Formats: sequence, structure tokens, C-alpha cells
Amino acid sequence: MLVVKRRCQPVNLAILTALNKRMELHHDEKQYLLNLEKGFEGETQFDRLVEQLTCEGLVLNDLLLTINGTTCQIDSLIVTANTLYLYEIKNFEGNFQYKSNQLYTFSGKEINNPLTQLNRTATLMRQLIKQLGTDLELEAAVLFINPSFMLYEAAVDKPYIFPAQLQAHFVKMNRDSLPLSKKHQFLADKLIKLHHKEGVFPHQLPSYAYDNLKKGLTCIHCGSFDLSLTQRKCRCKSCGHVAPIETAFCAQVEECRLLFPELRITKILMHDWCGGALPIRKIAPLLSTNYEKCGDKRGRYYK
Ligand SMILES: [Zn+2]
Repeated sequence: MLVVKRRCQPVNLAILTALNKRMELHHDEKQYLLNLEKGFEGETQFDRLVEQLTCEGLVLNDLLLTINGTTCQIDSLIVTANTLYLYEIKNFEGNFQYKSNQLYTFSGKEINNPLTQLNRTATLMRQLIKQLGTDLELEAAVLFINPSFMLYEAAVDKPYIFPAQLQAHFVKMNRDSLPLSKKHQFLADKLIKLHHKEGVFPHQLPSYAYDNLKKGLTCIHCGSFDLSLTQRKCRCKSCGHVAPIETAFCAQVEECRLLFPELRITKILMHDWCGGALPIRKIAPLLSTNYEKCGDKRGRYYK
């Protein structure tokens, strides 16, 4: 398998993770963060399995496409010689029940049936591949990745792939595979070109302001502010992780840029953002080594 489009951490997940360290999130925002973390974890787990497949195929992860005016998101798409596999990946955990086309937890909470989303995406995708002039069959499935997931009374004719069926599904894909040709590469290139890079949904993010966020240097492993610094290293008192100060500092710069893309990165700003944990004389060389210098000496900032 050749991964032609890798999965990146979703921007809203990165922003919420950074905010969660530096401000108090509401209960529903925390829940949203947990769901994003869980979803991303499930998807990366799936990616690891796909990378082990030996058949010829092109893998495109995390596509955001607008087809005939409607935008859809695809967790994973695998182009093989005869079939285009489209997956909606779910990392649900525990016992669920299938009742009149809906999914319910055992406590009776209704969960959106991922099939609704899948059917909509599959319909759009069929229109697109037709427009692109390919004759590949599209096979779409909701794939439950978590081994603890159990769905009682699921209709057998639904395109679900359960954890216990995953292995057999991949074995079949390996067995049925044929060599790829230029037309497959052409299709993959075309889809990558159509992908929207800016996939953020700002309305799902809490509002935040620079002044209201907690400042400080944080552990790159667990996010704790409780660090002890030596000349070159910082050690986290919460999780014990040790990192070079340079690495920890650059992570703070990236976080600041992510949350406030409009701010210019200066040594004064970074001194403040790190809560004064590092002296300015130490910050200046770290910025010069790792970022591009812009502006003159008086208005120096870094990109
Ligand atoms: Zn830590």
C-alpha cells in the first residue's frame, strides 16, 4: 500500500488541546475534545493496519471534498485496481443496540447512525468518480475499529465492518488485488487536487483571547506547567518526561502560532507566552536558530 495522502491531526483537535491547558473549557467543549481525540486515535489505528497490507493500492486519508455543491469528509479511501474502498471509521467503545435504523447505548442514549453519513458521502463520491471518467466500483463501509465495540441486533445487510471481521476484510482485499495502472494514479492525483486544505469549523471552537490564557512553558508529553528546568533540559514533575528546552520552546511557538496566527512572533511575545520561564537572552538564539528572521533589528519578528 502506498499512502499518497497522510492523515494530519485535525486543526480543531490541536486548538482545543492547546486551549484545554490554558483555560477552563465548558463541559460540552471538553466532551467534544474527548470525542475528537478518540476519533483521531481510531483513525491512526486504522492507518497502522492499512500500512501492513501487501496488495497494490493508493491510500488517501482525511479528504474534504465539495461535490456538486455539497461538502463531504472522507476518513479513508483506498484505490485498488478494481475497487475504490471508502471507510467511515468509528472508535465507539462498549455495547450498543440497533433499533429502527438507529444506534442506542445500553443506557438508552441515541447515537447518530454513521450509515446516514456514509450513504450521503458514497452517493456524492459515485457522482464524482463518474464525472472523473473512471469505471471503478465504489465499496463503502462503516468500520468499527475498537475491539470492545459490540452492536446487538444489527441488520446483516448493512455495510458495517465489525472489529472481528476486519482481518478477513483485509485478507480478501490482499487476495483480490491486481496491479495498478496510470489511471489509478491519475484518479488519486485528481482527488488530492480537489481536497480543501482549510478544514476548520470555527463555530465548534470556544472563543478565546490572548490575555485570558494561562502563560507558561508546558510539558510536550502531558501538557503540565509543572516543570523543572536545567541549562538545556526540562523535566516534567507530573509525568517525568524529559525534553530539550529547545524542543519544548519550539512547541510553545507553534502553539502560539496555531491559536493566534495574526500575532507576530517576537522574543518579547514568546517571553510572555512562556510565562517568563525563559529569559529573553535565551529566547533570542532559540528563535534565530529555528525560525526565519524578518524585519529590521528594532522590529524583529520570526516566521
Ligand atoms: Zn508531563
